[in-house]
Amino acid sequence: MVKICCIGAGYVGGPTMAVIAVKCPSIEVAVVDISISRIQAWNSDHLPIYEPGLDEVVKQRRGKNLFFSTDIERHVAEADIVFVSVNTPTKTRGLGAGKAADLTYWESAARMIRQDCRREILSNPEFLAEGTAILDLFNPDRVLIGGRETSDGRKAVETLKSVYAHWVPEDKILCTNLWSAELSKLAANAFLAQRISSVNAMSALCEATGADVAQVAHAIGTDSRIGPKFLKASVGFGGSCFQKDILNLVYICECNGLAEVAGYWKQVIKVNDYQKSRFVNRVVSSMFNTVAGKKVAILGFAFKKDTGDTRETAAIDVCKGLIGDKAHLRIYDPQVSEEQIQRDLALNKFEWDHPAHLQPPAAGADKQVSVVGDAYEAAKGAHAVCVLTEWGEFKGLDYGRIYEGMQKPAFVFDGRNVVDVEKLREIGFIVYSIGKPMDSWLKDMPAVA
Ligand code: ADP
Repeated sequence: MVKICCIGAGYVGGPTMAVIAVKCPSIEVAVVDISISRIQAWNSDHLPIYEPGLDEVVKQRRGKNLFFSTDIERHVAEADIVFVSVNTPTKTRGLGAGKAADLTYWESAARMIRQDCRREILSNPEFLAEGTAILDLFNPDRVLIGGRETSDGRKAVETLKSVYAHWVPEDKILCTNLWSAELSKLAANAFLAQRISSVNAMSALCEATGADVAQVAHAIGTDSRIGPKFLKASVGFGGSCFQKDILNLVYICECNGLAEVAGYWKQVIKVNDYQKSRFVNRVVSSMFNTVAGKKVAILGFAFKKDTGDTRETAAIDVCKGLIGDKAHLRIYDPQVSEEQIQRDLALNKFEWDHPAHLQPPAAGADKQVSVVGDAYEAAKGAHAVCVLTEWGEFKGLDYGRIYEGMQKPAFVFDGRNVVDVEKLREIGFIVYSIGKPMDSWLKDMPAVA
């Protein structure tokens, strides 16, 4: 029996290994982590991450050929193949701070593996999207394996290929050299994020001119060379990968003396930051240029729907911006805990993935922020509602009921284009929806930066 060990039981390691265990009953898979609580959660009924379909897959194989353990040394020593899926956060200090990947955790895992025996190194970047990770893993667009172009390297590539070949068609398993695999991962995320920043940049122009960004996106997306996916305007992209991978790409470009290339990709992040501050400015300027002491309901905190993940979520920057303007926030997200929200709002940029910063927040950390159990409670007595995650349930809310309970004039700022703008205007709301023709009220307000 082939044995696999995966170091790092996070968003990547957990789901990927669970799917390998399901698809390859002849392979024994051990997922190990230094975090005792994380491993305990993987062995319980409450998995440490929310991902549609994950519970079923884990239940099916756990205790059979899928194991979660903190005994890292033993499982690494016994394994034929070791995956490393530990965190590689953006450095917060020192050389390359704010750009380069912090490889501390990766190096510590690598040194541990090296104690055991010499192994061939492969690059096997993941391309799963949170919220659809299990479906993506079952039916990937491609699997990418990079290896050294030596006979040992080629042999190792073949070994890993044979694992994926249990369920992935051969023509979808791409084999490249190490740098190609590494850069393909960064490039894929940079291209995806670039599409979002492009449509978000257009959304600002749509608002200024009276165009509707959804119509523009549809019109350009029907061009088969462009395609319709990833053209939805929003308050900005988030997630653990897009920003981190682009910053890393920028850093590698700079290290290679390619300032223009670095500047090109940096702009994708700048537009994303611009989109978030533009949203905050719009909220403040629409509400008579002050939100001090006003109650603002925040619907959604996760970086996208169907995940509880808040890493780099646009909600953090938007909430911090509103808190900075002295608003009182009442936040609701169906999957994110109060502890997580308070911690996210207390951390500085790039600190979230550095365990040293991850102490629990002090009770009542921020008196300007409370977290509540549903959207109606969040909106009760509020001056404004901001939709920051496209959770399906926000489409079907009883907005008439919400309107009744709010201060007047009642504002809705839709950062994900989920609400029915016309319907809400009929109810009486003043509605701002990204990249959509403006309410006459908003048009008359002073221009935002
Ligand atoms: P990702 O989204 O890339 O999966 P996560 O932060 O969700 O990242 O998961 C990374 C996991 O790796 C964490 O659970 C962390 O405890 C674990 N980890 C970090 N360093 C090590 C190490 N040296 N040995 C074992 N596990 C580690």
